[in-house]
Amino acid sequence: MNVQCSQTAGRAVIIGAGLGGLATALRLATRGWRVRVCERSGTPGGKMNRWRAAGCTFDTGPSLITMPWVFEELFADAGERLADYARLIPVHPLAEYVFADGDRFAYSPRLPEWLAAVRTREGGRAETFLRHMALGARLFELSKASFFRSSPFDRPDPAALSALKYMPLRHVWGSYAETVRHFYHDPHLRQMFLRYPTYVGSAPERVPAMLTVIPYLEYAFGVHHIEGGLYTLIEALTALLQARGVELRWQAPAVAIERAGERIAGVRLADGTRWPADVVVMNGDVSRSPALLGQPESPSLPESERSLSGLVFLWAVQGRLEGRAHHTVFFSSDYPREFHELFDERRFPADPTVYVNLPARSDPSMAGPNAEPIFVMANAPANDGDPWDEAMIAEARRRVVARLRAGGFPDVEHRLVAESVWTPRRMAETYDMPGGAIYGTHSHGIRRAFFRPPNRDRRIHGLYYVGGSTHPGGGTPTVLLSARMVSEHILRHRLS
Ligand SMILES: Cc1cc2nc3c(=O)[nH]c(=O)nc-3n(C[C@H](O)[C@H](O)[C@H](O)COP(=O)(O)OP(=O)(O)OC[C@H]3O[C@@H](n4cnc5c(N)ncnc54)[C@H](O)[C@@H]3O)c2cc1C
Repeated sequence: MNVQCSQTAGRAVIIGAGLGGLATALRLATRGWRVRVCERSGTPGGKMNRWRAAGCTFDTGPSLITMPWVFEELFADAGERLADYARLIPVHPLAEYVFADGDRFAYSPRLPEWLAAVRTREGGRAETFLRHMALGARLFELSKASFFRSSPFDRPDPAALSALKYMPLRHVWGSYAETVRHFYHDPHLRQMFLRYPTYVGSAPERVPAMLTVIPYLEYAFGVHHIEGGLYTLIEALTALLQARGVELRWQAPAVAIERAGERIAGVRLADGTRWPADVVVMNGDVSRSPALLGQPESPSLPESERSLSGLVFLWAVQGRLEGRAHHTVFFSSDYPREFHELFDERRFPADPTVYVNLPARSDPSMAGPNAEPIFVMANAPANDGDPWDEAMIAEARRRVVARLRAGGFPDVEHRLVAESVWTPRRMAETYDMPGGAIYGTHSHGIRRAFFRPPNRDRRIHGLYYVGGSTHPGGGTPTVLLSARMVSEHILRHRLS
């Protein structure tokens, strides 16, 4: 199918080659727009980044995807098939959970197996999981036609209004954590489901119940790895853009968004190049756009409004880690305390919950001949002032390793053949995001969860925002939904 248009529909400049920027570029180029992308770093992908060492391949950012149809739809819109570019591997179990008291279980994607596990823990009541997922399904139907289609700042369309029939009122406005406690009595099932708000960098006790859609999405559509690493997707998108004549420039920071009155005029790059444009799409953190618009006095996103950052250790470890799950979560002994430290005291937790990703367990191509890649991550506050110097990293590493040891993870430190550490500070500097806040603003409370920065500037005609810091939020599938919304806005954009 050839969906490309022969005429140039307009000129678009995209600031940033993150996933959202590349996806928007592809959608617009497919519709005949002349598209240019400038990226401040030397490679595309933004937080979706790659590192190679000791023959191992590491994704430095996202390590799992869900909602695979969103990825398929992006390629289909460009007349392509995702399967021709990337092989999605379903991960089984979805994750292994290890608790501080020594208890552990695997979260099986096979429903009968998982219901049996729930039944044992919930005094014979497995249907509680089904009711939990049924609520998530209703919220998903509601989101599909509303939150996942357009920003609440846009005028609602008839589909969004008719989807209101799915709205289970009490649960939308209630508390996420209360909803989890309503469904489960087992403390470990509760802790497992309380973890999901961290997927959007937020604290479980502070987000609205609407986020119940996240565990639903994961169970209904699975957890997937991409063969060769998630970065394969970035390579595929970049190749497609090049083939379609999109101009891609690396090490080319945008320093100004230029306008003529209240209309977009173009973008100025650090080397003085001017790219005239009918529309500009900001894929960098939305909080950075006032500075590009010549309002340098605008404050950065306040720390109290930021989502979580993370501390990531990438370890190439000699030998193999047979018999371990692809994803394992080692829970801290006091989960509420951990979020109090992260959001109120704004410090790295004394006893962090640690997530371990062993991609070679599902995809041997990620391993080196004699080494296996391990991605280890703990949540961290997105502060500006934390030095993240050697001493701070060493102390944080001691706490992470202590949690891994307590959970029975093998002592791999003496087998390390290569290491790379991503601190919140390094993320902040590499991607120019406030304090390394991975998901922009947190989703605490109804206002922050639903009314994220919109995708279209309401004052400047032709200026748009795409990516995790804007609507509908962070995470790879939601970023792709953001790109779809922005593209639809632009395709409706009148050039005159
Ligand atoms: C450690 C970590 C783990 C994660 N885990 C997962 C996961 O398991 N699953 C999942 O779905 N998601 C995960 N995410 C989130 C996911 O990676 C992001 O939500 C998504 O990749 C963000 O895409 P984006 O379009 O917002 O662009 P970004 O990745 O934010 O990229 C924006 C780009 O804009 C560039 N830029 C900024 N300013 C300028 C400028 N002035 N001029 C030119 N270029 C500029 C930046 O350099 C950057 O390349 C994770 C992220 C991290 C960091």
